[in-house]
Amino acid sequence: VESPAPSCLAANDSNTSPLVLELRQVTCSYIPNQPAIHDISLALHQGEILCLLGPSGCGKTTTLRVIAGFERVTAGEIVLNGTVVASPRIHLPPERRRVGMVFQEYALFPHLRVAENIGFGLQACSIDQRRARIHDLLTMMDLVGFERRYPHELSGGQQQRVALARALAPNPVLLLLDEPFSNLDPDMTYKMQDELHTLLKRTNTTTLLVTHDHEEAFAMADQIAVLHEGRLIQCDTPETIYHLPATPFVAEFVGQADFLPGTVTETGVMTEVGVFPRPIHYHGTHHVYVMVRPDDLEITATGQGTARITSRQFRGSENLYTIRLASGRLVHCTTPSTTVFPHNLAVELKTKATHTVVFDQSSYLTS
Ligand code: ADP
Ligand code: MG
Repeated sequence: VESPAPSCLAANDSNTSPLVLELRQVTCSYIPNQPAIHDISLALHQGEILCLLGPSGCGKTTTLRVIAGFERVTAGEIVLNGTVVASPRIHLPPERRRVGMVFQEYALFPHLRVAENIGFGLQACSIDQRRARIHDLLTMMDLVGFERRYPHELSGGQQQRVALARALAPNPVLLLLDEPFSNLDPDMTYKMQDELHTLLKRTNTTTLLVTHDHEEAFAMADQIAVLHEGRLIQCDTPETIYHLPATPFVAEFVGQADFLPGTVTETGVMTEVGVFPRPIHYHGTHHVYVMVRPDDLEITATGQGTARITSRQFRGSENLYTIRLASGRLVHCTTPSTTVFPHNLAVELKTKATHTVVFDQSSYLTS
């Protein structure tokens, strides 16, 4: 028996802002009977940023394209601002959905100047209204002085801001962003993420952002929806996704995670590295796998103990150690950047986890 697919609806119950977007069990197939996305349910409230997170090919772009109206849904329905815009029988064309989209490669018009690109969706406005709106967006995006340039005369970050301005110009009810930072230099990405987050919150823009990068999702999202092979696996806050992942796949996708065999007892979950707190209201099997994050363990460098340090990765603000346990299993552990242990040192490990995530054998093997 298949359990019902997760959705964002339950997690969002406390949000009193109006619903802008709802996907109800949406399926989209490019090839008959091979859905690219399957049974996806999502809800997005006014002013909220939802990140669709998942590996390449999991259906992120497809989800954006059905919402924008570039693809038809095979099953389910999409509700935008209270109106059904897509179902197997209904298909409102993209230009009537009031959705702004920034494509992965920006898709600026190469033969149009910056101001003309931004004003492209404002055909229905008077010349004065159009000019005023373009000016507002140039100011908002810090592009004043660049209005007469062509896209090829701009940096990647500037092109991205033009694409954003063009998408926001007609005041869309919903903004869709497909991997907006993938074409930028890594050292520029943090600054741009921060700026974009500030801008979206200041303008109270309802946004669905797609990324394969969990750090980007953590930095940007109010809610994260994790997709895997076309299915929604979990939708929660970034903190819950990290600390209480629903499946081993989610656990590993959003950060370093090791899994150790454990036994659930009255007093806690016994593992090779120590006792973890017993999960509250636990009714599962006794033999489990325990998720171990690098910040769940503490190294004591006694020169004794059965665990050994096999490698250290310097990460700036911290060190990430790989440690081989007596059983041969590997775990990871972080220490402050100034705490440096020699290679091959025998160490003892202590657990300092405040909560425990366990998976039973079958879910560990299937997800
Ligand atoms: P993502 O954006 O997460 O990388 P996509 O939504 O682009 O994933 O693709 C999801 C799946 O649908 C992939 O298996 C991909 O090969 C397939 N797909 C995407 N676009 C098309 C298309 N136009 N025709 C057929 N299959 C497609
Ligand atoms: Mg994509």
